Amino acid sequence: MIYKPEKYAIKDERIKPFIDADEIWNFINKTPSTKQRVREIIQASLDKKRLSLEETAVLLNAEDPDLIEEIKEGARTLKEKVYGERIVLFAPLYVGDLCTNNCQYCGFRSENKGIKRITLNEQQLIEETTALIDQGHKRLILVYGEHPKYTADFIAETVKIVYTVKHNHGEIRRVNINAAPFDIPGFRTIKDSGIGTFQVFQETYHRPTYASVHLGGVKRNYDWRLTSLDRAQEAGIDDVGIGALFGLYDWRFEVLSLVRHVNHFEAVYNVGPHTISFPRIQNAMSLNINKKYLVNDEEFVRLVSILRLAVPYTGMILTAREPIHIRNQVLRFGVSQIDGGTNLELGGYSKGKKQTQDLSMEQFQINDNRSLNEIMDELIKTGYIPSFCTACYRLGRTGEHFMEFSVPGFIKRFCSPNALLTLAEYLEDYAPEDTKKEGYQLINNKISELASHQNVDKLKEKVGEIKAGKRDLYF
Ligand code: SF4
Repeated sequence: MIYKPEKYAIKDERIKPFIDADEIWNFINKTPSTKQRVREIIQASLDKKRLSLEETAVLLNAEDPDLIEEIKEGARTLKEKVYGERIVLFAPLYVGDLCTNNCQYCGFRSENKGIKRITLNEQQLIEETTALIDQGHKRLILVYGEHPKYTADFIAETVKIVYTVKHNHGEIRRVNINAAPFDIPGFRTIKDSGIGTFQVFQETYHRPTYASVHLGGVKRNYDWRLTSLDRAQEAGIDDVGIGALFGLYDWRFEVLSLVRHVNHFEAVYNVGPHTISFPRIQNAMSLNINKKYLVNDEEFVRLVSILRLAVPYTGMILTAREPIHIRNQVLRFGVSQIDGGTNLELGGYSKGKKQTQDLSMEQFQINDNRSLNEIMDELIKTGYIPSFCTACYRLGRTGEHFMEFSVPGFIKRFCSPNALLTLAEYLEDYAPEDTKKEGYQLINNKISELASHQNVDKLKEKVGEIKAGKRDLYF
């Protein structure tokens, strides 16, 4: 595919690049971090105020170990306050790995001739979706390379196919997308297929680094990518997901740029992104990156905590890139969504999980190979409520409307009861006996904790209806 820059020029006057590297470095280099200031900012965040770049820089520049512990504790408290104990579960489903870009950190890059190129056909997509439904999933993210074959119509068609698949009591109720940026008409076509969130990660917000790792294809165009979710918003997609690939450049710069991206959306569209992702670089076939900026575990836990405090009501996604011990740690400090039973191999779910990954068939290395039920068990045992909830999306509580609910904390009134209902469905249809026993114990405990809650009687009733065979009940 010939990359014609003029085709990807930003034509819409309202849409302008908004990352100023000097401004970001100025905040990092010139913002002092004192104990008193850090405590004031944690308190502001606990009052659910989104933090400014200056305030976020104060947290980034805190080096005193006690202060870093206070920041983590603040993040833990805020997560509890806004999201309760619920952890939303999803699974990635790779649809096609053809790609004309040449991203030096990715196994699917065009110059990697050793990767097996596959695009699922309709039958394979149905088989993969059925396998995921039979695990117990209700929320998927469909993933595509960037290639002329993966047009907006192609993507819309695959979304519709996934929604048609029903098996026993199971179905997919929310499909999110991780794919290349489109123009406004392209995003509108995908919107109309009934998607939830559209994710585009900037990978790195640092222009020189961006140019040094994106060596081919449309993805070389920094501004086209940076402004892609503005076009998505213009096309009516009000649930968007941003992210950076940590390890390409200085993590503090990427954190501040993500916050800059959030406040850009709020300034222009009066709504922040639905989710933020912060994947760390992992091994991949023909990986070719400078390892100077790799993020260690201690820094990773700090950046998750700081992001949690900086954007109180934006969902935070952590994937199976991270090993179990790190996942369990950062769940406490802000993460609200994780994947479970993940298999990155194209067509891999219906083949059954392999013990070892074959990187000639997968984009990158994952470090959490647990099945969905193993993750369910661990979450239930550690007091989290695993959730497959899609109520907000299906009741139109999205974008600005979602913010109306989440800002004053109402969402907790819906999140926990709905999480318990989707957990009951999972226990009835997919859980082995011991998980079922522990799961209902958790549900009963949580219902007794909700005794003063206005919905508790209705909740008990709905759980009873699910035990009796009804499905898809929510507030
Ligand atoms: S990161 Fe995405 S765009 Fe880049 S090579 Fe991989 S699949 Fe293609």
